Amino acid sequence: MATILQTRGLKKYFGGLRAINGVDLVIEEGELRCLIGPNGAGKSTLFKLILGSYPPSAGAILFKGDDITTLQPHLRVQRGMSIKFQVPGIFLQLPVEQNLRIALQRPHRGAALDQALERLLELIDLGHQRSELAANLSHGQQQWLEIAMAVALQPAMLLLDEPTAGMSPEETFKTGELVKKLNASGMTIVVIEHDMAFVRQIAKRVTVLHFGEVFDDGSLDKIVRNEDVVRIYLGKV
Ligand code: ADP
Ligand code: MG
Repeated sequence: MATILQTRGLKKYFGGLRAINGVDLVIEEGELRCLIGPNGAGKSTLFKLILGSYPPSAGAILFKGDDITTLQPHLRVQRGMSIKFQVPGIFLQLPVEQNLRIALQRPHRGAALDQALERLLELIDLGHQRSELAANLSHGQQQWLEIAMAVALQPAMLLLDEPTAGMSPEETFKTGELVKKLNASGMTIVVIEHDMAFVRQIAKRVTVLHFGEVFDDGSLDKIVRNEDVVRIYLGKV
């Protein structure tokens, strides 16, 4: 398998705070990886470094073999990265369909755009609510709409930051199935998640972050047997 993403000795300091403190992460093409860890562990910061929202304090980021450490975010997106942040970025005052059309404008035109639109509506099961304002959707549906917008660019690698935050167990399960479906279609996915039922539903491999460092890594079964992980993280759930 080819490596799609690699970070080498990645660090991000905010003043004296070591938010990311030397992370070496390797993600293989087609992987579905879960990133877990207590609040403030540095998970969102790591995503922002990968996307280029912040410059790192030290270290390097490679994407598809190229050093992208100093590349601007929109150029990383052009190379095949897409992200769904913790805070939804959908247009609440526009209908579902219009939200998706905006996201699809870049890669598609005309009939191809219409076909892609139908595929996305089916993917997130919102065909029946295509004319509804995004503001009127349920919390879960709004999250799925945003995932669909991130997927519209047909990224090679999708980053999801807590996609199930605030969701009911049913919505969380549906999100897990959506993520598995996208991964089965060949998309590499890295997902930050707190919900252990969700992690168990989707995870093939889990990386635990703690105080800006990789604390443990492996199958979920291995992770939950590590008493130190249980102590720093799982014990609180
Ligand atoms: P997580 O997503 O794992 O909960 P974050 O990456 O959001 O953690 O935050 C890691 C640490 O970095 C926290 O202590 C947080 O307060 C701090 N932090 C995050 N972003 C900033 C910022 N822009 N400026 C200063 N400190 C920040
Ligand atoms: Mg976070």
